[in-house]
Amino acid sequence: MPLITQTQNSQPHGKPIELKQKLAIDEAIISSVGDGLIVTDKEGRILLMNPAATRMLKQDAKAVVGKDLIDTVPAADKNGKIVPKENRPLRTVLATGQSFTNHAANFYVRSDKSKFPAAITTSPIILNKEIIGSIITFRDITHEKEVDRMKTEFISLASHQLRTPLSAIRWFLEMLINGDAGPVNKEQAKFLKNVNDSTLRMITLVNDLLNISRIESGRIIIEPKPTHLGKLIEEVLEEVRLKYKSKNQKVVVSYHPNLPDINVDPNLTRAVYLNLLNNAIKYSPEGSEITIIISKKGNEIISQISDNGFGIPKKEQYRVFQKFYRGSNIVKKVLDGTGLGLYLVKSIIESSSGKIWFESEEGKGTTFWISLPTSGTAAKKGEVSINS
Ligand code: ADP
Repeated sequence: MPLITQTQNSQPHGKPIELKQKLAIDEAIISSVGDGLIVTDKEGRILLMNPAATRMLKQDAKAVVGKDLIDTVPAADKNGKIVPKENRPLRTVLATGQSFTNHAANFYVRSDKSKFPAAITTSPIILNKEIIGSIITFRDITHEKEVDRMKTEFISLASHQLRTPLSAIRWFLEMLINGDAGPVNKEQAKFLKNVNDSTLRMITLVNDLLNISRIESGRIIIEPKPTHLGKLIEEVLEEVRLKYKSKNQKVVVSYHPNLPDINVDPNLTRAVYLNLLNNAIKYSPEGSEITIIISKKGNEIISQISDNGFGIPKKEQYRVFQKFYRGSNIVKKVLDGTGLGLYLVKSIIESSSGKIWFESEEGKGTTFWISLPTSGTAAKKGEVSINS
């Protein structure tokens, strides 16, 4: 079967290439591709597996022809569970004609049952507007994953080591500010306050980095307990009361009296609420109002946190959940921030089987929504808990 439609049918000097030679070129090209390549017909049966694919999957190129791809090459999720047939992207690609690239960790299972992480793209082959098959390209990303793990481990170790001297600095600063080492004059007090503020910012940064590395490395413990989200948010509000009172802001909370408890990790959910509320307070002017609504919709509990503050510029909104993003409209106005809070929030929500999204208009305000399934979060054994 000619797999590549040769549009250029003549050699540079103009002589036509023989059909046989064209097929040989097709084959040579496919065999030379460094990435794994599998072609299927429209039923998902294997037509061809290139040498890179057979090597990675430990399959026999001839024996696999005609076999169902999904049965022959199982995929596993990050917990090692085999992905059910109906959830394999190949089905959707063959049905809809849309390409699919896996972004989440995905594993291919070799013929000897061992697994490797793979970056996979599945695309339809379309001829005369008809889907006639699919082409799957993939790469073994074991090395990238390992480098990623080492980076996370390094950040975790570095932030852990930084915490001890920072605590000591803070401790001695407090003693100086309180006059334990003798009276301080006005100017000294002002300088000490600046040093103290910077130290607190650094402690927040180090703690955020540590929490992120805990989540990214999958070492975090998830301990779901029946939790009333209304009560939890009231507790968080108590924690930030001083902050919003000092800005004369008003916070209005509403939730249904029969809001059911859900099985989530209260410490992780508290960290989510704390981040979103701190942001609503920080990025809204004096005297503004913050609204919190928690409601049950179908199989989800949705928490909505709205402010009428500075908003997030439209052009930058795609970066909101990225590490170290800080809005260009606030970066000079609000010094206190690391750009790590929302990244952490999103990681927590995703590890709790939830979703997060937002709407924002500069100068008008921002609303964040988080949704958590009423079925709750699955427990996970780990080594560390958040903020420990
Ligand atoms: P930080 O607040 O430490 O800068 P976050 O990750 O929590 O970091 O937020 C990232 C950026 O998103 C903020 O710097 C700010 O520009 C923007 N942002 C987040 N929440 C809001 C909000 N409620 N209103 C306006 N901007 C916000």
